[in-house]
Amino acid sequence: MSKRKKVIIIGGGISGLAAAFRLSELSRYAHTPVEIVLVEAKPRLGGVIESRTQNGFLLEGGPDSFISEKPAACELAKRLGISGDILGTNEKFRRSFIYKKGKLVPVPEGFYLIAPSQIKTFLATPLLDWSTKLRMGCELFISRRDSSADESVASFVRRRFGETTLREIAQPMIGGIYTADPEYLSLATTMPQFHELERRYGSVIKGLLARKALRARNSSAEASGPRYSLFLSFQEGMETLIRNLSARLVKVKIMLSSPVTRIQYRNVWEVGLESGTSLNADAVGIALPAYQTGRLLLPVSSGLAQDLSSIPYESVATINLAYPRSDIPHRLDGFGFVVPAYTGRKIVACSFSSVKFAGRAPADMVLLRAFVGGALHREVYESDDETMLKIVRDELRHYLGIEKAPRFSSIRRYPHAMPQYRVGHLDLVRSIQSKATAFPGLYLAGNAFRGIGVPDCVKQAESAAEAMFEYLKGNTAKPVRQTALPEIQR
Ligand SMILES: Cc1cc2nc3c(=O)[nH]c(=O)nc-3n(C[C@H](O)[C@H](O)[C@H](O)COP(=O)(O)OP(=O)(O)OC[C@H]3O[C@@H](n4cnc5c(N)ncnc54)[C@H](O)[C@@H]3O)c2cc1C
Repeated sequence: MSKRKKVIIIGGGISGLAAAFRLSELSRYAHTPVEIVLVEAKPRLGGVIESRTQNGFLLEGGPDSFISEKPAACELAKRLGISGDILGTNEKFRRSFIYKKGKLVPVPEGFYLIAPSQIKTFLATPLLDWSTKLRMGCELFISRRDSSADESVASFVRRRFGETTLREIAQPMIGGIYTADPEYLSLATTMPQFHELERRYGSVIKGLLARKALRARNSSAEASGPRYSLFLSFQEGMETLIRNLSARLVKVKIMLSSPVTRIQYRNVWEVGLESGTSLNADAVGIALPAYQTGRLLLPVSSGLAQDLSSIPYESVATINLAYPRSDIPHRLDGFGFVVPAYTGRKIVACSFSSVKFAGRAPADMVLLRAFVGGALHREVYESDDETMLKIVRDELRHYLGIEKAPRFSSIRRYPHAMPQYRVGHLDLVRSIQSKATAFPGLYLAGNAFRGIGVPDCVKQAESAAEAMFEYLKGNTAKPVRQTALPEIQR
């Protein structure tokens, strides 16, 4: 690079921070200084990731965990030198429940979102009646679909496993993660592994069994690597990731309480802040919800703005509730439960937070966290705090028999925070990407595109940063992903 290049990253959630960190790593290791400014609207970093302590409880507002199956967050933690702070779930109670006919019924061991990978536990479970088990078993003989076009999660599950599996299992398990209506949710974006199992093995169940056998054969090789539980957090909560990222961004200028109100491109990027300040850069990385990015990019490209703004979002809220253990009659012998929408009940899910992760509540106390809102429960999100708390307490009385009021509760609302990946979403993302490439130095990240989870956001942000770095070096060829950066010692 001839002169020192300037970059502006907009958005200080996990996506913006991970992009800024990756860029600063690359610039350090390549001895190529880049001037990075990160601009965040709020007075704090982290976006929807917020952990706080109250009376000895550790409350998560947004995400309470990330999955180890997608390695980007673990790899980032390793590079930050905080692998030792990663916390696995409680070994003793690695299961969750689905609400059915007035009871919380355990999800059978080996059940993978929509399909069993263990025949014995599947046959024994009271979660499904015999006609549903028979219908699910028929999946082995249903021929594969002859099209690679995207379809909805509902259509896929209905086709392969039948209506009851969709209503009673897939909708609460998958719909809960995406707070989406499975009738519209894109299979190709959210669960491509199921489409792949159908394509490769002709049956999801056959594919899951084959993969399980393969894993068993390779288990000695796997045993040498780190063994994490599926869900992970940090001892001091998810915000550990944010704190450590911001602490490492020593050379990045971080501007808090600085909403971006305007972006223009005139061979250089010009970013206007609400304060009236204007910043210039060679490249700009935008890590905002898609509708915000769309609004800001309207003066740059109406087509790109239109595509971005067409991604719908839903609002969700979490309600943390603290109880003495003795006030809860239920055994709490799991991580929590999900509630199918067909039941007409009002919450999406509830985590037994202090059972799932150690250190979330003082001894003899319990922390629960209810999840409300999303595409199928908008009216609950729209209620005021008092009504929402009453709804949640009524619901918890029904599932867990809790009569007493919590010692305290805390409601966090996330308006328009959950992008809805509709059928055909990947085509829309490709269209967005191709339109964005017309503008040199423009890079997009965030949860709107190819995955909503924290590891997805990290991966997409790092890829955007790598592409940006190549661009700044004057090389627009696809970058080779470098994964061998050494861990930073604390
Ligand atoms: C309640 C909830 C629970 C979740 N649970 C999980 C979970 O358990 N596991 C998991 O993996 N994922 C979970 N997710 C998803 C995951 O947390 C998010 O997808 C991810 O954190 C989004 O990060 P982000 O940086 O892309 O966006 P955000 O966190 O939304 O950050 C965007 C940032 O941009 C800032 N901003 C907005 N407009 C402007 C502007 N004009 N100028 C400057 N800055 C601006 C915002 O203030 C914000 O800080 C959950 C999400 C929610 C809401």
